[in-house]
Amino acid sequence: MDHVKSLRCLVCGRTYAPDAVDYVCPEHGNEGILDVQYDYELIARRLSPDRLARDPDPTIWRYRPLLPVRPDSPVPPLAVGGAPLYRAARLAAGLGLQNVWVKDDGRQPTASFKDRASAIAVVKGRERGAAVITTASTGNAAAALAGLCASVGQRNVIFVPESAPAAKIAQLLVYGSTVLLVRGTYDDAFELCLEAARAFGWYNRNTGYNPYMSEGKKTASFEICEQLGWDAPDRIFVPVGDGCIIGGIHKGLKDLLALGWIDRMPRLMGVQAAGSAALYDAWRNGVAALEMQPIVAHTLADSISAGLPRDRIKALAAVRETGGAYVRVTDAQILAAIPTLAQTTGVFAEPAAAAAYAGLAQAVAEGLVGPDERIVVLCTGSGLKDVAAARRAVGEPLVVEPTLAAVERALAGLGGPE
Ligand SMILES: *Cc1c(COP(=O)(O)O)cnc(C)c1O
Ligand SMILES: [Zn+2]
Repeated sequence: MDHVKSLRCLVCGRTYAPDAVDYVCPEHGNEGILDVQYDYELIARRLSPDRLARDPDPTIWRYRPLLPVRPDSPVPPLAVGGAPLYRAARLAAGLGLQNVWVKDDGRQPTASFKDRASAIAVVKGRERGAAVITTASTGNAAAALAGLCASVGQRNVIFVPESAPAAKIAQLLVYGSTVLLVRGTYDDAFELCLEAARAFGWYNRNTGYNPYMSEGKKTASFEICEQLGWDAPDRIFVPVGDGCIIGGIHKGLKDLLALGWIDRMPRLMGVQAAGSAALYDAWRNGVAALEMQPIVAHTLADSISAGLPRDRIKALAAVRETGGAYVRVTDAQILAAIPTLAQTTGVFAEPAAAAAYAGLAQAVAEGLVGPDERIVVLCTGSGLKDVAAARRAVGEPLVVEPTLAAVERALAGLGGPE
């Protein structure tokens, strides 16, 4: 890992050799989130846009010289990355915009963006010879870790709140993880997982704790910019819970700027659910990340429900340093966004992912977005993760007797389609 210079504490600025610490700054405990520092001169000798253009590998490992793994570490066989970036003309027109793209990360192997981070967790865990890898999760990070561990036969233990959607719990059990449903919130599951990992010596994937998770998540920025011919978009809308995705997106863009592969920093737009808007509130009121207080989070968008966002330092910096904004959307707006996004793009998103589109609509309504800005909406998870929520967003299907007459009557009632 000669391309990784150090791990830098975002609280005190101290730097550590990559082998000296596993997770957080020893001086600052759980708040001492570390940022991976690279030797960009070395990386530029190993990777370039030209070289990438010739590389047929569509997965995140095409960016390997920019990832914090040893050059010879085996990587899991599940194909993570390579998410399509769809030009969304009808969605854009509906909002009075010209240039909107939807990045569909619901197509990852376990159907969420979290596969990008869990792939790195599995490589790092195995570099350390971990017998067990663990995580707490609202569901998707766990499903991602479970799937990637299954692909290499790695034991893992998962802590999820009892209230996680059924599809996500089913994924964990199908992948053969040891699943502990915690009688409590995600925040309770997180604390318990940290304690258990310490007590039993497990490798810990937890978001906003393991410094390498943002590094996996940053690969979406690489893909977006590469898919746009290295012409960076003006804004990226990102749904935010713990803030690891938006922090990772920011990190990837900073990497590309440092390498000179893009020439400007897009504005990052964090979208939060109104019932779980700790970062929105802190941003609005000019509160520093370390002064934020936990709230009681309530939203049907379970993947962005976080009382005290674990990656709050990176999440606030992502918006503040890029001149972006946080926006807040209600659960009703999130639910309504699911069919709108699906019917204008063909992308079926889970509530947290649809929130990114709802946030774009909200930002347009607030006059934050210019009509010809180039905008990317990050769809972070598949709608099949939470069909119960999706069914609440749409009407009931027509039920007919098996006769043509019944079909005609039903269609007449709809006023169409002939
Ligand atoms: C985890 C997740 C998010 C939010 O990511 P954070 O890093 O917690 O901010 C958004 N959407 C989906 C589908 C997720 O699984
Ligand atoms: Zn520190």
